[in-house]
Amino acid sequence: MLRVEKLSHAFSNSTEIVPVLHQVSFQVKPGEMVALLGSSGSGKSTMLNLMAGLMKPTEGQIYIAGQDIVKMSENRLAEFRRGHIGFVFQSYELIATMTVIENVQLPLVFQSVRPSVRRKKALALLEEVGLPDKSNLFPSQLSGGQQQRVSIARSLITEPSIIFADEPTGNLDTKTEEEIIGILQRLNKAKNTTFVIVTHEAEVAEQMQSIITLRNGYLVTGQEHMKEDLSSRREA
Ligand code: ADP
Ligand code: MG
Repeated sequence: MLRVEKLSHAFSNSTEIVPVLHQVSFQVKPGEMVALLGSSGSGKSTMLNLMAGLMKPTEGQIYIAGQDIVKMSENRLAEFRRGHIGFVFQSYELIATMTVIENVQLPLVFQSVRPSVRRKKALALLEEVGLPDKSNLFPSQLSGGQQQRVSIARSLITEPSIIFADEPTGNLDTKTEEEIIGILQRLNKAKNTTFVIVTHEAEVAEQMQSIITLRNGYLVTGQEHMKEDLSSRREA
């Protein structure tokens, strides 16, 4: 589903070049739910933004469904993203002046899908994320956890094969975090959508099928050791 090959990235500002990712390679299978774990500043968001095609890497390849998104032209990539990729942000990024259902439908407006079809799909997804009765409210009338559910519904409406989520529970309390992770797990099972979820919390990562760890922009190998570390920490 996703294959990253020797991916490196450096940001350049006016005075210096700042290397952030170093020759990172890994694969994610279709339907897998993967955590991208690492402490703050380790390069997780940069990695996710590159994989979602939001920016171009300095070096390396990113294959999604067999196609290298790094090589794609801007137009081709934009089209590919609309068809294949979903994104969930830590801060939800809902449009304040649109109702819940308008927010969820928005990606289909860009695809010129008929209003009746859009509406039906959006309502079904709001039901799936547990918000069947909130469709006509505005984002400001919802709690953080509810807003994140709306954002998850929006990311799913184009039926992407892969969804990237950047610290989706980063602004939420522990109980709400558990609810959101539960929803993502349920959707992953029900739709076989592949998920890559960025987190700096070992407890969240531990609930995924596999864990990719970044440390200072380098992939930490020996993932099984990582899992053992995590489970022994939990027992302690
Ligand atoms: P994480 O999401 O793991 O906290 P980031 O990918 O956001 O890490 O950042 C990794 C490193 O890249 C940090 O040192 C950060 O300061 C740097 N960085 C991120 N974005 C930029 C940018 N646009 N310009 C320069 N440096 C950046
Ligand atoms: Mg980040």
